[in-house]
Amino acid sequence: MGAEPPRTVARPELDGARLLSDLDHLATIGADPAGGVSRVAYSAADIEARGWVRETMLGLGMEVRRDEAANVIGRYPGAEPARKPITLGSHTDTVPNGGRYDGALGVVAALACVRALRDAAVHLRHPVEVIDFAAEEATLGTPTLGSLAMTGGLARDALTRPAWDGRPAAAHIRDAGLDARGLNRAVRPRRVLAAYLELHIEQGGVLDAAGIPIGVVEGIVGIRRFAVAFAGQANHAGTTAMADRRDALVMAAPFVLGVRDAAVEAGVVGTVGVLRVLPGVPSIVPGRVELEAEIRGLDEAALDGVEARLGELASGLGGELQRATAKASVRSDPELVAAIEAACDSLGLASRRMASGAGHDAMVVGRYVPQAMIFVPSTGGVSHAPEEHTPPERCVDGGRALLGALLELDGRL
Ligand SMILES: [Zn+2]
Repeated sequence: MGAEPPRTVARPELDGARLLSDLDHLATIGADPAGGVSRVAYSAADIEARGWVRETMLGLGMEVRRDEAANVIGRYPGAEPARKPITLGSHTDTVPNGGRYDGALGVVAALACVRALRDAAVHLRHPVEVIDFAAEEATLGTPTLGSLAMTGGLARDALTRPAWDGRPAAAHIRDAGLDARGLNRAVRPRRVLAAYLELHIEQGGVLDAAGIPIGVVEGIVGIRRFAVAFAGQANHAGTTAMADRRDALVMAAPFVLGVRDAAVEAGVVGTVGVLRVLPGVPSIVPGRVELEAEIRGLDEAALDGVEARLGELASGLGGELQRATAKASVRSDPELVAAIEAACDSLGLASRRMASGAGHDAMVVGRYVPQAMIFVPSTGGVSHAPEEHTPPERCVDGGRALLGALLELDGRL
């Protein structure tokens, strides 16, 4: 018996030039004369972009469907069809006058990964799925609407919430020719994916300032919001002696600084974004102050600590703190994080671990399947604006890291 000839399989290579020209093309759909890109969820431009994604998927030999929420889902077959797919995705909708990278980069990079496999005539063990999620931005009153529909997590009032223009979300969905009440039919079994990977711009300035091309997202921060009230006594600002005042704003002032100090010490971020001084008249000592504060962090125990401290601080100052909403943090899957880091190492790309301070579809999908995200730098930390920018070579680095992680995971999972 002679030895079998060595089987040479071409290593899939990402076509960076094509990735960038796809990104350029996508930026022409909904290009806003006032600057930037306006592909607001379910607008004509948004639907046109989804059509382009669908056509591109078909051109890559993928099996494509558009679900009831207008999520576009393409599938490139694997060599072992019984396996669950490894899914890559992001979104192509934008905020009004948004940038050309937020979401779009993750979608064109996912398509570039499939193109690399097809060009090398490679089928991985796992099928590869690409999803262009619908309505990721909060323009319809609910962020990540498409991934929530897909995972059965839509809130009951999601369709009646006011959209960016004041009309209910359902009106926009109907304008796009969809059955708003049928959105729930987009739901898929919760553990239908082997893993979910998303490439996204950082939207903050950490990577740009550090000169590091790749961020490996350890998790998406939890968000807790609080309503805080301080009740004093409204009184005449001219006749009430300083010693006799119960000025609600003076009571509340140390709380604002306390939010900052507690956040800094716990390694999270904290903000007082709303301050209402009542009755809000220069000639009246403030009788009541209402604050809205939020804290964000990856470590739930740290958030617990800050929440307890702020509760004590508020009551010590004569006020009261109530939790308004809480969204738990979502940790990235350690095996996926390791696969991204291994891919970056073998590509010679420097990386650092970091948290995502913004919400993403990965956070929604990640409640049910292992997920991780790859960040690339946002120049100056700017996003959701026409000035949003990521250097072309960093976009390609991100695509290569995504492909590397996909190949790595195909062997590990
Ligand atoms: Zn985004």
